[in-house]
Formats: sequence, structure tokens, C-alpha cells
Amino acid sequence: MATSNPITFPFATEAYIARPNAPSPPVLEPITYSALQPTEVLVSIAAVSICHTDLRAISGDFHLKPPMIPGHEGSGTVLATGSQVTYVEAGDSVVLAYASCGRCRRCVLGKNAFCDGLVGMNFAGSGDGVVRDGDGGHVKGGFFGQSSMSRVALVHESSCVKVDVEDKRELELCASLGCGIQTGAGSILNIAKPTPSSKIVIFGAGAVGLSALLAAKLTSPSHLILIDKSPTKLSNIHPSLLTNVHVLDTSTHKTPTETALAIKALTPGNMGVDYALECIGNESCILAAHACLDTLGTLITVGSSATAKLNIGIGTHLIRGITIRGTHQGDSVSRVMVPELVGLWKRGVFPFELVVERFGFGELGRAVGEMRSGRVVKPLLVA
Ligand SMILES: [Zn+2]
Ligand SMILES: [Zn+2]
Repeated sequence: MATSNPITFPFATEAYIARPNAPSPPVLEPITYSALQPTEVLVSIAAVSICHTDLRAISGDFHLKPPMIPGHEGSGTVLATGSQVTYVEAGDSVVLAYASCGRCRRCVLGKNAFCDGLVGMNFAGSGDGVVRDGDGGHVKGGFFGQSSMSRVALVHESSCVKVDVEDKRELELCASLGCGIQTGAGSILNIAKPTPSSKIVIFGAGAVGLSALLAAKLTSPSHLILIDKSPTKLSNIHPSLLTNVHVLDTSTHKTPTETALAIKALTPGNMGVDYALECIGNESCILAAHACLDTLGTLITVGSSATAKLNIGIGTHLIRGITIRGTHQGDSVSRVMVPELVGLWKRGVFPFELVVERFGFGELGRAVGEMRSGRVVKPLLVA
């Protein structure tokens, strides 16, 4: 469907540009989009939240290297659509998530998070000349199909998730559902699928871990344990999130075994847990998460790392019937998971707003500092 929108290209706006070896966080710079491709959508950004993967990309520690526009948890209003776009039209409210092809075997099976085209569509960047900076230099867009740290973003249609929101403030808040929160929630709701008799431990009190905690509370598990080595992070968690939760500060722990024993001590007969979610991507935590499992338990590695390795003796692993499962995006199909989480939030049973803190759109530097200090879990830059 061709758009009748009067928007024309080249289209000029402002975006954060991560520069190679930059000593400080990116700042807003003028950019120009050369054209709107048939499968692309132009979105006026209402808000974009910051995920740790943005920080990795900004520092050059990710597949898509600077110069690039970060941002992969955006929300906004559709301004214009490419000639082959059918899912959204101008004026629609959308949350932006990862992109997928929708046609490969994985996508057809509802496993879009493992799309055959995942790397190309999310981490390869847009083509040469599609996005240019104020000096005419090439800048890569298309990060997670969206590069939404921009006043107006050029996104792949598959990244768009239509959401039913009452006003702009709700649309802004929903930006944060696009990656970290659907990853944490999906790891529980799509993979672990605990029962009321389940024992669960979650490593990491960041946005992913706390979202997993919120989702786990929906299932009323018999034992729910949250672990972090940062007393600052743990003390900043809203108290209402921690009802019926065992909180374990591991800042003084010397070994993974010490942490595993402390977790087991919180379970009946010191038997350990059924599900351990590692939401950090830290080798010691992965070892502790594996060692604290009860027989037939499952370790789910949720946190990402470019360097962490798994070194586990298969003897005890085998005889205890342990499962190790990796996940991307908590196996979430965004057009299913995001509206579900919005619905749960409206019912008051998934209060994810308690992990989000608002900043001005131009305050990326301050927001990153607050995030790194552990004082803020999920900064939201509001346009
Ligand atoms: Zn696919
Ligand atoms: Zn992310």
C-alpha cells in the first residue's frame, strides 16, 4: 500500500551517533535518510530506553561497529510506510523490537527470535549511503532493525509491534518492553514455564532479571530467589517487587560453589532449584547457576557475553539429568509477547514501570552514568 503521506526524501532529523573510539557517550547529531525502502517504516520516536547491548555497541564491543546509531527499545508513531508495508499505517502507535524475516522455517514455527536472517537483519547495519551524518559521512542504521536513538527512526516493518495505549505517556513507557523486559519475562513464560511448586533462582537484578522476577511472581513459585553482587542495585529495588522473594547479596562470595551452597540452603533439604536463570553473562554466575540445580533442573543462559565460556564436568551433569538452554529475547515473538505484557501491566500484575526511570531525550550521557552506577535499572529517554 503506497503512502499518501507528504513526507519526502532525503529526510533530515537528529540521532545519537556512536563514533569509533569515542571517549564519551554519543551526542545528538544531524542525520539524513536517503530513501524509504519498500519494507521500511518511518517512525517518530516517543521514547527509547537503554539496554546493556546498546552500551556494548557504543563501545565497539558488538557485531555492528561504530559509526552507527544505537537504540533497540523504541516506541513511537508511524509517519510513513514503504510500498510493501501492510502491517502498520501512518498514525499507528508502535513498540519497536528485533527484526525477523517472517518466512524462514524458524519464523514459520513461531521461533522468530532464532530467525535464519537474524544477524543480517539486526546486526549488519543498513546499506552504504542510506544514513548520512551532517558531513555527508556514512553511518550505519538498522541496529535490531530500528536504530531508534533518533528523533525519527527508519525501521524494518517486522520490528513494529502495534500497541493499544491510552496516551503518549503510556506509549513512552512501553518502549522498554522491546528487548530486555520481553527477554526476562519470556525466559520464564516461554521457556521455564514454572508451576506453583517450582523453585527458581534469578542471577542479576538488572532489567532482564527483574522482569524475569515479575513474570515468575505471576506463577506463584514456592521458592523465588534473586541474586546480585551489587548491594547498591539490590537496595534500589522497589520493595513491592521483593514480596515473597529471597534476596541474596553475593558481594562477599569468593567462589561459585559458595554461592551455589547459599542458594541450596534456601531450598527444602538443601536440594537446590528447578530453574536457574543467568541474566548477566558471567562465567562464575553460570557455574553457580549450574551447581545450585536440583536433579532434572534447568539452567537458562539469558545474559549475553562475547567472552564467557561454559566449563562443566559432564559426570554429575549427566547423572542428574541437567538441561542447559540458551535463549535470545526469551524466545519471545514480539507481536505476541509485547501486547501480552501491556495487558498484564494494565491489570496491575506486571508493574514494570517500577524498573524504569525517565530522562530527557538529550540526556543519554547522564542516563548511561546512572545505569552504570547501579542506581537506575532501565533509563528511558523521552522525546
Ligand atoms: Zn525468519
Ligand atoms: Zn537489548
